[in-house]
Amino acid sequence: MDFSEKVVLVTGASSGIGAETAVHFSKLGAKLAITGRKLENLTHTAEKCASKPLLITGELTKEEDARKIIETTIKHYGKLNILVNNAGIIESGGIENTSLEQYDRIFNTNVRAVYYLTMLAVPYLIESKGNIVNVSSVTGIRASAGVLSYCMSKSAIDQFTRCVALDLALKQVRVNSVNPGVVITELHKRGGMSEEQYQEFIGRCKTTHALGRPGQPEEVAKTIAFLASDAASFITGAILPVDGGRQLLCPR
Ligand code: NDP
Repeated sequence: MDFSEKVVLVTGASSGIGAETAVHFSKLGAKLAITGRKLENLTHTAEKCASKPLLITGELTKEEDARKIIETTIKHYGKLNILVNNAGIIESGGIENTSLEQYDRIFNTNVRAVYYLTMLAVPYLIESKGNIVNVSSVTGIRASAGVLSYCMSKSAIDQFTRCVALDLALKQVRVNSVNPGVVITELHKRGGMSEEQYQEFIGRCKTTHALGRPGQPEEVAKTIAFLASDAASFITGAILPVDGGRQLLCPR
């Protein structure tokens, strides 16, 4: 896979899957624009990259920040080939103990921000005949108790992937998603799990994932790069589980 001369924008590159995705694309020769809210963490990602990325801080739920991210990328590189919509948040809460505030927080970040950033990026992706990879989740495909808004947000992203794939197909812009199972990152602890709860959650991956373990961010990063590459030139609208077989399991 060769991404030299390709400009790749990765959101949420200051941590976890996004950070590994940036590092992986850099090794494949991409020209990178990476975003996150914390400059210190973005700088940490940049230090691990094979070439120097463009760092753009921004709060994706703010429309002016989304515009700044696209404008700064285009001003710096003159084009955009690949958009990786990775940034996201999780919070616990089922129908009995969620709130509208929680719904808004999760949908604003996981859905509305992706919707807007993609709208802004699409004219440039059409120009470059580029592509989009959305980072969804196994929870977009399968239901989980106690994470209602998060599951709904990822299902929305899966339908977004399919619809936008059709909208842009004749313009030769491909749109796909990866749907990870549990991957070791900061996501769940940031979403409210204590260290003890997290260790128990990760331990249960022995049975919740067919392969008997959680995933690593680089395993998702490699799949994102595959979907973004010419090796996937006839793939669009795909919802690709990267989940150690988790979505196959059914209690027996
Ligand atoms: P992390 O918490 O490690 O990283 C999340 C990233 O998203 C950070 O870079 C964070 O930036 C950024 N981000 C979150 N909210 C905003 C916002 N409002 N504006 C700008 N940036 C934001 O999580 P993961 O790497 O695990 O998550 C990446 C994606 O993978 C998410 O979409 C998640 O839903 C998905 N996923 C993760 C799984 C897992 O088990 N880890 C499983 C399935 C899907 P900052 O550091 O600046 O806060």
